[in-house]
Amino acid sequence: MPGQSVFRSLEPLLEQVSKPIQYVGGELNSTVKDWDVAGDATVRWSLMYPDAYEVGVPNQGVMILYEVLNERADALAERTYAVWPDLEALMREHGVPQFTVDAHRPVGDFDLFGLSFSTELGYTNMLTALDLAGIPLHARDRDESHPIVVAGGHAAFNPEPIADFVDAAVVGDGEEAVLAITDIVGDWKRTGRPGGRHELLMRLARTGGVYVPAFYDVTYLPDGRIQRVAPNQPGVPWRVSKHTVMDLDAWPYPKQPLVPLAESVHERMSVEIFRGCTRGCRFCQAGMITRPVRERSITGIGEMVERGLAATGFEEVGLLSLSSADHSEIADVAKGLADRYEGTNTGLSLPSTRVDAFNIDLANELTRNGRRSGLTFAPEGGSERIRKVINKMVSEDDLIRTVSAAYGAGWRQVKLYFMCGLPTETDEDVLQIAELAKKVIETGRQVSGRRDIRCTVSIGGFVPKPHTPFQWAAQLGAEETDARLDKLRQAIRSDRRYGSSIGFRYHDGKPGIVEGLLSRGDRRVGRVIEAVWRAGGRFDGWSEHFSYDRWMEAASAELPAAGVDVAWYTTRERGESEVLPWDHIDSGLDKEWLWQDWLDSLDETEVEDCRWTPCFDCGVCPQMNTEIEIGPTGVKLLPLTVLGSGREAMREHSHA
Ligand code: SF4
Repeated sequence: MPGQSVFRSLEPLLEQVSKPIQYVGGELNSTVKDWDVAGDATVRWSLMYPDAYEVGVPNQGVMILYEVLNERADALAERTYAVWPDLEALMREHGVPQFTVDAHRPVGDFDLFGLSFSTELGYTNMLTALDLAGIPLHARDRDESHPIVVAGGHAAFNPEPIADFVDAAVVGDGEEAVLAITDIVGDWKRTGRPGGRHELLMRLARTGGVYVPAFYDVTYLPDGRIQRVAPNQPGVPWRVSKHTVMDLDAWPYPKQPLVPLAESVHERMSVEIFRGCTRGCRFCQAGMITRPVRERSITGIGEMVERGLAATGFEEVGLLSLSSADHSEIADVAKGLADRYEGTNTGLSLPSTRVDAFNIDLANELTRNGRRSGLTFAPEGGSERIRKVINKMVSEDDLIRTVSAAYGAGWRQVKLYFMCGLPTETDEDVLQIAELAKKVIETGRQVSGRRDIRCTVSIGGFVPKPHTPFQWAAQLGAEETDARLDKLRQAIRSDRRYGSSIGFRYHDGKPGIVEGLLSRGDRRVGRVIEAVWRAGGRFDGWSEHFSYDRWMEAASAELPAAGVDVAWYTTRERGESEVLPWDHIDSGLDKEWLWQDWLDSLDETEVEDCRWTPCFDCGVCPQMNTEIEIGPTGVKLLPLTVLGSGREAMREHSHA
């Protein structure tokens, strides 16, 4: 019987694996619906964040879709996560399929299998899940008994490397998209599944908002570049559009955030205060593909915080977005929430904060009910010149002024994030990071009069991403990245006055090259992903599981037949006329504008944020028939009668 729990066969295996609690489900606010809740026409989704439970369970995207789908009377959604290799081996041995954590139903029994890819490093975990679920790895080998495999998330903006493995990809905001897909699947089921799987995929593809890779043919030029990507079915559009939810207040999800039983990476509740970013940092794919800016109103935020705290018992609320201090009413939001929860244990945090949008009043409000731990800023580039190249308009004076205020207000620890390998970068640009860190320490010592000031420099390799002005750029090779970072490390360590106050964290250049291959790859890279998986590749986002050699061996075996190699995909600069693998995925950004912005970056010319200056025609608003949605509304949050925050409130409710 489809939809039967496999827990009886899973349970004896759990005592033999690490962290078994991650596989048992039953979290506060999780939902288990009747398999036939709407009879034969029930549309059933299994949703996967293709990483370990502890990383996947706090994911907002999956949590939102899970709730939105389960609210529908004719649908159900359950979650599944990547199982660790110890359980994978036992599941294979005992014939236990990939299961959902909610009702332990086999993933292969659902109508749809939706995967949310924040990064490309989850691709091998998708293959494990498909294989364990008994779903053929290749879309072309599936029949009507198999779920429709749908990819979403930021990585899906270039779905080509996984084109062989997914039936469909959806880009942009998922809330309305999953409901529209559910309608189409429900209609098709209700009317007796006319035309089978092919017809269903055709119906999805013809909406213009669902990409079905099998309905597009890719041809190549003799030199390996793409000649053309063209639809091979009638009525299928040449380009597939992203989805954009304009009114965030109409989508106050998650209303009932999940509270994991096992440890997870974020032990807090998150409220997304706006989507999109128009700052225009040229390296930032998230900023580019989520345009335009859409703010949640101050009252909408207040309601979500109130409802979410009551529903979860969490004691920390993260105000999420790409650059939270940029919300047009952030000062009133922070003050209003700090006032409301004064005297409780409820803390607020602003996970991403720009140096230039930060001010100490805001920081003080955020920590009024909590601790003053570290502050994190991301100047991204070490020198003023490179910050112009990447359009991160932060001057050294801004940074020093900000850290001076922070140290003066009692913070002792500042973390700074940078990237290495940015276009036009030289050793000198990166060595400037050491100088900046020294000035930060010096400033901290001066304003606080103390010696125990610390600054941690964290640095990662830059990976050029699709749909950004740097999509044409050459990535820096792994060895060059390592050599540059080594010089920086030496510059920091050799400084006798400041060196011991500066922490230095960096990633070596190798994982960045694999990420680069997967980010800007085309369909031919799918063979590499499959070969890596067959050779044992799992959890590539985890350094203890990642193997650069395995990726390079697979690439050397699979790519030469096509006349390309890893360097061709990564360290090669592309020309203006080259057809990029993701050109037929419409993020709304005008390719000519992106090209001009790429040229501007090489000239070190900056562009302003279009929230505060006239539109510079990036293309998103007219293309998507949208516009920027921001405040201020002038509304203030009124104090609440707080029963007691977090867990106390939960206890009171449960005893009522
Ligand atoms: S179209 Fe204009 S206003 Fe809209 S995001 Fe682009 S630059 Fe900004």
